[in-house]
Amino acid sequence: MHDLEYLRLLQAAVDQSFDAVVITTAELDRPGPEIVYANPAFLAMTGYELDELLGNSPRLFQGEGTNRQMLDRLRETLAAGERFSARTVNYRKDGSAYDVEWSISPVRGESGDITHFVSVQRDITEETREHERRQMLVYALDASSDSVVITDRENRILDVNRAFEDHTGYSRAEVRGKNPSVLQSGMHDRSFYQRLWDTLQRGEVFRDTFIDKRKNGQLIHMEETITPVRDDHGELTGYVSVGKDITDRVHTENELKRLATTDMLTGLINRMHFEKLLDHEHERVQRYGHPASLIMIDIDHFKQINDDCGHPCGDAVLTRFARLVGEHVRTTDSFARWGGEEFMLITPDTDEAAAMVLAEKLRELVRSSEFPEVGRVTASFGVAALSAELSPEDSVHRVDQRLYTAKRLGRDRVVGPEQPDS
Ligand code: GH3
Ligand code: MG
Ligand code: MG
Repeated sequence: MHDLEYLRLLQAAVDQSFDAVVITTAELDRPGPEIVYANPAFLAMTGYELDELLGNSPRLFQGEGTNRQMLDRLRETLAAGERFSARTVNYRKDGSAYDVEWSISPVRGESGDITHFVSVQRDITEETREHERRQMLVYALDASSDSVVITDRENRILDVNRAFEDHTGYSRAEVRGKNPSVLQSGMHDRSFYQRLWDTLQRGEVFRDTFIDKRKNGQLIHMEETITPVRDDHGELTGYVSVGKDITDRVHTENELKRLATTDMLTGLINRMHFEKLLDHEHERVQRYGHPASLIMIDIDHFKQINDDCGHPCGDAVLTRFARLVGEHVRTTDSFARWGGEEFMLITPDTDEAAAMVLAEKLRELVRSSEFPEVGRVTASFGVAALSAELSPEDSVHRVDQRLYTAKRLGRDRVVGPEQPDS
């Protein structure tokens, strides 16, 4: 190709370039380099006309925001004949500032001396603002005490915030690219996840409490809101979930529930909770026809025990009694403190006859056990089936009467249906 033709083509390319191009002489000492060429993109970026620039120094674009140290490094690098890239602030003709990215290369003449500098520049103001906005969002997310997880449309984790790292013990780097299922604790059934995906697939927000597993294996309770995210064309791009760690609250609630259902002295189920369990068991008896029985226990001459060794010592006897009997009933039985020195036992899947055998065994256990506080202790027992025909209250009344009979007949005995009631 003819040299001149080639030059013309190059000129056309540079004239059309989106990047701003400016060429100066290579004069580094005062008065400095002079502009010998600027392309239309450069004129558009700076607001000058070409004839206002030609013969002028690029210092025209500098101002108070321009990085002086960077200019020093620029001069040193160019003097050494090397290419220099940097970012700084420059100024337009109207005085407004813009962020610019430069790449300046020395160009050598035929003698080998540097004759010109070619500078390719780009206005990166928007890019810088966008970057700053993103930074601000990242700071905001990291400042949040709620954990945030952002996933792509395949539900692979793109990013998490600092609260997520705190809550789960996983670092950003560890979970990036993974599925949030790394947090699954196995505490939710298939239908839970089915409901989750059905909701998200409908494009709706899913809200529920998740029991997640931390990296160290601990379970955490997270109140989560998962939102499907769509782009401007309505295409699904991913999911954002925001979660609040409510583990402490759940533990407090559980503790309060435990306190509300527990007898303080013995640690057994309290009467209020027992009555609920009794209703529940009564329903089972009615619905399925399973047998179940009630055993009521009252410690004999407990007033005497108190009188002999004092009230706190009586408490110790009650606690020991509760532990002793509690250790000899099935885990499916419900053993409760009914009040004072009276106790109640529900025995599911146990008919009256089997309950009589159990009561007899417990009576024997009590009378043969050592109570260091007072020596020997005996108790009286009433036994009655939980009947579908009777209300729970009537069953309690019946077992109470049989216990009363056991007392009347001389204590330290079990009274069930076969004994005379008067
Ligand atoms: P009986 O053989 O007829 O059952 O005689 P009893 O003395 O056990 O009879 P009663 O039910 O009249 O007395 C129960 C006593 O238990 C009365 C009360 O002072 C005592 N008591 C009730 N609750 C507690 C408690 O929490 N701690 C202690 N130390 N004593 C209690
Ligand atoms: Mg008693
Ligand atoms: Mg009593």
